[in-house]
Amino acid sequence: MKKLRNNNLKPLNENDIRPKILMQEQKKAMKADIEWLKNRSMDFVNVCCPSCGSKNSKPLYVKYYLNHLLCNNCLTQYISPRPTKAVLEDFYKNSLNYAYWAKYIFSASADIRKEKIFKPRAFFLKENIDSKYLNGNLLEIGAAYGYFCEEIKKLNLFKKVIAIEPTPDLAEVLRKKKIDVIESSYEKAKISFKFDVIVNFEVIEHLFDPREFLKWCFKNLNRGGCIFLTCPNIGGFETTVLGKESDTVDHEHLNLFNTKSIKKMLEQAGFEKVIVSTPGLLDFDIVKQAYLEKNINKNRLGPFILSLIEDESLDSEKKFQDYLIKSNNSSHMMLIAYKPKI
Ligand SMILES: [Zn+2]
Repeated sequence: MKKLRNNNLKPLNENDIRPKILMQEQKKAMKADIEWLKNRSMDFVNVCCPSCGSKNSKPLYVKYYLNHLLCNNCLTQYISPRPTKAVLEDFYKNSLNYAYWAKYIFSASADIRKEKIFKPRAFFLKENIDSKYLNGNLLEIGAAYGYFCEEIKKLNLFKKVIAIEPTPDLAEVLRKKKIDVIESSYEKAKISFKFDVIVNFEVIEHLFDPREFLKWCFKNLNRGGCIFLTCPNIGGFETTVLGKESDTVDHEHLNLFNTKSIKKMLEQAGFEKVIVSTPGLLDFDIVKQAYLEKNINKNRLGPFILSLIEDESLDSEKKFQDYLIKSNNSSHMMLIAYKPKI
């Protein structure tokens, strides 16, 4: 299993992809979104564990007026009661936070995101796809600005690269980039053929029903084809250390899987040969910044992490992050899984 690496000398840091100066304004937009959701909470519904279906859970905490539960069976963390599909559709259409990210943050960090995030993903897929399926069809669900579509097209691996994007402004961005786009939610998309690869990045944690989504992907793949996805790993270093203080725990991430629970969910949807890796590069930097800026209690970090933070050498930080990646303990995970050939 090849891991993603950041080959530049300077490690990728949080400021590269979320410039601080812009994030301050973004916080206001996010607050408005949280209020919007709070006002719709009468329409929320209770759910079982979105990963394994168990009803056996315990309450963790409330953040942004939302109840976080921990599944006692598979340790997935999830929000319940949660907004219904209809409320979510309305929410993302009206989200000020999304509009702000679209207008400022993504455009300010587009080059670095392409180079350090999407290009390595395209190469990873190239290395992990059965050559028989090259020159086939690829579908990206939630293609946003089309960074992955652009990078994968450059590699000339697929006959067709198609994007599903429900947000009208983003669909327009994709059309301008000459990417084939279906402007629709995945459930309502009209597709007359199957795909060899379906990819989605940072999508599954937002969905009302992730198991239904995986079944849809399975149904729309050719035999032997694969699904390739990324999402947060709640069992990773950054999210374990920061817990409720982690920005990963927010009002949009309804489902927070760990490496084992998501693997099982993919297998239950029919996929096989599931490979999970955690190529996240930012755990240590995020924990360090949280400690320096958010008054995180020293006891939460412990002496070992504190000594690493106080050690000014970037080399030990990088080695520690490399260890997290190699041991599958980073808080950002990547999965590839295959539909059986027969
Ligand atoms: Zn569960």
